[in-house]
Amino acid sequence: MIPYGAQDITQDDVDAVLEVLGSDFLTQGPKVPLFEQALKDKTHASYALAVNSATSALHIACLALGLSKGDWLWTSPITFVASSNCALYCGATVDFVDIDPATNNMSVEALEEKLLQAKLSDRLPKIVVPVHLCGASCDMKAIHELSKEYGFRIIEDASHAIGGLYKNQPVGSCKFSDITVFSFHPVKIITTAEGGAATTNDESLARKMELLRSHGITRDRSLMSKKPDGGWYYEQIALGFNYRLTDLQAALGISQLRRLEYMVERRHLVSEYYSEHLTGIPVTTPQVSGDVYSALHLYVIRLDVKRTLKSHGVIFQELRDRGVGVNLHYIPVYRQPFYKKMGFKHENFPNAEAYYREAISIPMFPTLTKSDQSKVIGTLKSVVV
Ligand SMILES: *Cc1c(COP(=O)(O)O)cnc(C)c1O
Repeated sequence: MIPYGAQDITQDDVDAVLEVLGSDFLTQGPKVPLFEQALKDKTHASYALAVNSATSALHIACLALGLSKGDWLWTSPITFVASSNCALYCGATVDFVDIDPATNNMSVEALEEKLLQAKLSDRLPKIVVPVHLCGASCDMKAIHELSKEYGFRIIEDASHAIGGLYKNQPVGSCKFSDITVFSFHPVKIITTAEGGAATTNDESLARKMELLRSHGITRDRSLMSKKPDGGWYYEQIALGFNYRLTDLQAALGISQLRRLEYMVERRHLVSEYYSEHLTGIPVTTPQVSGDVYSALHLYVIRLDVKRTLKSHGVIFQELRDRGVGVNLHYIPVYRQPFYKKMGFKHENFPNAEAYYREAISIPMFPTLTKSDQSKVIGTLKSVVV
């Protein structure tokens, strides 16, 4: 089976991890701050915090922004459940904004309309989480302008998008947001096995996230309630977690990050080959707007289901049966049983529903060979009728 995604691990990556294994620190050593520096260099953000997953990063980002019971967080329904679960961890309430059928990202028009309504009923969101689906940035400038008008904060879920650009700025620069979150799970653009990060330009948000990442414990005297009892002394001043990344993982991250541009370029070559050859069948290939350079985490085609004889489900299964490891990113979150009980109505999200009827993620990763890609294209051409 040709998988839909795969990590790209080189001998340099292996050596970097082995070096840490033989060193004094497996965790809380020098590699984590070095990885954070490398992330700042890549994203141009002032602060970067490495954590053990994007899910953890989303959680502490919400807490740092003060999300709590009675607050609302809005995100896109076409995302991984972590983008909205972070609100529930904080006791807040979730709502979704329908997607734009052209980009499959959160629709700015739908967001504006929903904000107008929410203002009337005094239910404006505290946080909006735009998700850069497949690695293509949302229209952040427009969302940022709305945040000024309606007073919400922004966390970019850039789990798919490290290495991407928006208006010639790296995703993660936080030019149009408070915090950006990345994932380094093996299927994503670069990997640390499990891992994630948050970037921000706001020192106080960075300090809060730093505290929450490690039990709420500080060794910074200026934050302590009293003079230290001795050299051993530290204080717990908030209820935090153990969301730390290890030095083993950070070493892998540093090594992977060195090849970020190369890996994204490889993905673009794969994408160009698909776009050239996936013609003459009733599918739409991905489109991004002119000011976006996608990191191309995923390559999602949409079936023109009105023109196919076979159903979406049948086509999907036949592709898998023939060795093409397709997937579907994602089931609209409001359809999950855990969310269903919150009373979401499918008809409020017509574009997300249409996406769910039509989308298929086909193999996309930097080491995908031409011959495997040709097999994917050939199989699609024979199956999609
Ligand atoms: C993968 C992913 C996450 C969660 O990432 P982890 O590092 O596995 O916690 C969150 N949001 C989106 C959009 C993702 O794709």
